[in-house]
This record gives sequence, C-alpha cells and structure tokens, in this order.
Amino acid sequence: MALTGLEIYKLLPKTNCKKCGFPTCLAFAMALAAKKVSLDKCPDVSEETKQILAEAAEPPIRTVLIGEKYKIGGEIVLFRHEKTFYNPCLLGVLIKDTFDETTIEERINEFYTLEFDRVGQKHKTELLAIKLEQQNNAEKIKYILSKIKEDTLVGIFSNNISLLEEVLKIKKFHLIGICEDIKDLEKYVSLAKHYSVPLVVGSEDLDKTISIIENIVKQHNFRELIINVAVKNYSQVTEYLTQIRRLALKKNLRSLGYPTIIIIESDDEIENLSFATLGVLKYASIVIVNTTRQDIHLSLVTMRLNIYTDPQKPTTVEPKLYQIGGTPSEKSPLLVTTNFSLTYYSVEPEIINSKIPSWLLIVDTDGLSVLTAWAAEKFTAEKVVEAINKENILEKVKNKRLIIPGYVAVMSGKLNELLPDWEIIVGPREASGIPKFLKTLCQ
Ligand code: SF4
Repeated sequence: MALTGLEIYKLLPKTNCKKCGFPTCLAFAMALAAKKVSLDKCPDVSEETKQILAEAAEPPIRTVLIGEKYKIGGEIVLFRHEKTFYNPCLLGVLIKDTFDETTIEERINEFYTLEFDRVGQKHKTELLAIKLEQQNNAEKIKYILSKIKEDTLVGIFSNNISLLEEVLKIKKFHLIGICEDIKDLEKYVSLAKHYSVPLVVGSEDLDKTISIIENIVKQHNFRELIINVAVKNYSQVTEYLTQIRRLALKKNLRSLGYPTIIIIESDDEIENLSFATLGVLKYASIVIVNTTRQDIHLSLVTMRLNIYTDPQKPTTVEPKLYQIGGTPSEKSPLLVTTNFSLTYYSVEPEIINSKIPSWLLIVDTDGLSVLTAWAAEKFTAEKVVEAINKENILEKVKNKRLIIPGYVAVMSGKLNELLPDWEIIVGPREASGIPKFLKTLCQ
C-alpha cells in the first residue's frame, strides 16, 4: 500500500540538508509520495527506510514473472471498474506421468492447437503443467520432455523433492512446485532460487499456507511465490480464492499477496470446465485443466478476455487500406470506417458475404466506433481525406467513389467540399446492410 507524504517524512533523516535539491525533507517526502522524484536523491536515507519504501511501493498482490514474457498477479484493485486489471490469468493443460505414451503424445500435440482468433487477436492456452506422481519413472519423464517444443512454457509439479531435483537437471522449467509441507521448504526454496523460477506453495488449510509463506519470506528471503489452491470442491475454491484476494487487497495482508494457481485433475470434462470457470471468474492467476477439448479452452479464453479486457482501452485494428473478399480492382468499391476492432470485424464479414471484392479504408480514431468517433471529432471529413492521401488511394482505386457509414451521412457535405471530383455515397447504417447495398451498387 502506497505511503502518504507524511508517513514517508517520518522515515527520512529530517535534517533539511537540501542535498536532494528540495528545501526540506517534508517537501522531498511529498514529491516522493507523488512519484515525482526517486528515493536515491537523498544520500542519507537508511537501508531500513529503503526497504520499507520499496515494499510499500509494491502492488498488494506481487507481480511474478513466468518465463520471459508472462506476468501474473500485480493487481491493485478487487474489481476492474475500480481502476483496471493488469495481468490476465494463464491457462494450462495438465500432463501426468501416469498417462500412457499415446495419451501423452496426443495431449501435447493437441495443446499446440489451442490457439484462437478473437476480433483479430490471437489468444491461446499458454502453459503445459507436468505433474509427477510416480516415484521413479525416468523413462516416462524423458518421453514427456521429448514431445515438448523448445519454446513452450512448462511448469513441473511434484511433492517428491528428490525426483524434482533430478528432473530439473534435464530441462529448464518456468515454475516449480508444489511445496505442501514445511519440512521440505528449504529444499524447494533452494531449487527455486538455484534455477531462478517461481515456486508454487500452499495447502488446503489457509492458515498453514500463510505460515509456509511467512517462513519462506522470513527464513529464506524468497518471494517469487504462487499460492496453490489445493481445495477440492466448488464452495471451498470460491471461499479460498475470495479470502486470499480480499485479505491481500483490502487488508494488505502481505503473506497472501501472491498470485494463485488452481490445478484441476478431474477426469470429468464438465467438472474441468466448471472448476476452471470458477478459477477464472474468481481471479486465479493460473488455471490448469485436465483436458484439451477445443470448446472448453475457447470458453475459458473468451471468459478471460471478458474479465481482463479493459473497456476504457478500446481494441483496435491497424489503420490502413485493406483488401476484403478477394483481390479488388481499381473499379471496386471503396468503403471507409473507424479502427475500433469490433467495427472492423462487423464490416469485414459483411463485405465478404456480398461476394464483391472491395477496399476498406480504416481511419485511426483511437479505437472509437463510428458515431462516438464522429462526436469526438476523431472521424471527420478531414481525417478521411488525410487517410486517403496517406494510403495513396488513387494509385489503387481509380473510380473516385467513397462509401461512408450511414451513421455519419452528415459528413458527406464536407467531404464533397474537400474531394470535389469524388462521388461520396452514404452506405447503410448497420454492417448487416452492406451485402445488399454493395450488390445493388455494383449491378
Ligand atoms: S537530502 Fe535527505 S535529509 Fe537532506 S533534505 Fe533531502 S530528504 Fe532531507
């Protein structure tokens, strides 16, 4: 939780020596609280103060890096409407060493197909989670690893520390666990530190989880932790995830201020979907399922998008000239609209439906839809002309006919003025009217 200027002031030397460039320690503290200056400008601040301020500046749920590009945790609010969410949960597929070789190969191959296109963006299930249950099955482990592509995000889980030590010598993993027992802590933490990977810890009992985490932080000064939601029924999952999140975000309980993982091992696919849904909805940071069914993963990816897409930041497509429905000619229709991705992905399929190859000019409106962009003066006749010039449209489209969305028919007067030798045509208001409109236009 961020400290106030006065709280920071109490930690400073209070000598008003001015070495930081501020007339007083209080002025420096106020600037620090407003993040206008960094602490290193005061040369006399103590190590203890540095640590207190560094910890205070951290989000209540720690950000943990998985691999080189995925961050989990790092959230500062309970609900998205309070500010925003930063790091969507990761989705994963479970592989166990108790599976037969055919199942392992099929599952890993299917894992690589779990990639989905949603409004122009690629979304996928990111993580393979290998769970070791057999005591000594080196051949099976090697078989699993031989099927995994080099750049795959992989976690390895075992409560057998010796086995884990051996496997980590063979391959680099991106998270390890699960440490459920305080007596094994030291070994698990040593492994996590040695390989610089996050460690999954926790037990069914929340108090025990707290004591495991406090022990790791105090005794081993290691904080790259993920809490395992090791509970078995829906109400417990809901309760466990809710308590962790509330205690971390609302009560600032640092011992629970870590990302969470839920690993679903049920063989029942509907149970997998139900538990995973609960996990995503209650903000688990990693959700692992025991299935590669495309429809289940598509549902989870879609739900994740619903929760983590910030409505204050519209999704956009690149503003440029697109060829839609085949290769348009220099006589093909030219339509114009905004770069809000939902607008683009409403218009694009309707042009394809018309079976008339067309040009679609996308104007940069900061991701606003047609009417909103027009009202905000981001979709104006001037901006359309600017886009026409920028894309050198006349090199590709010779008929000088421009179709504008019906909702901004009012723009046609100004466009006629700015493009006097063009024909400005007002198209339909809704994208669904495009096929009939284009067919009639091109008869
Ligand atoms: S350098 Fe440090 S001690 Fe000196 S005025 Fe600035 S904050 Fe105070």
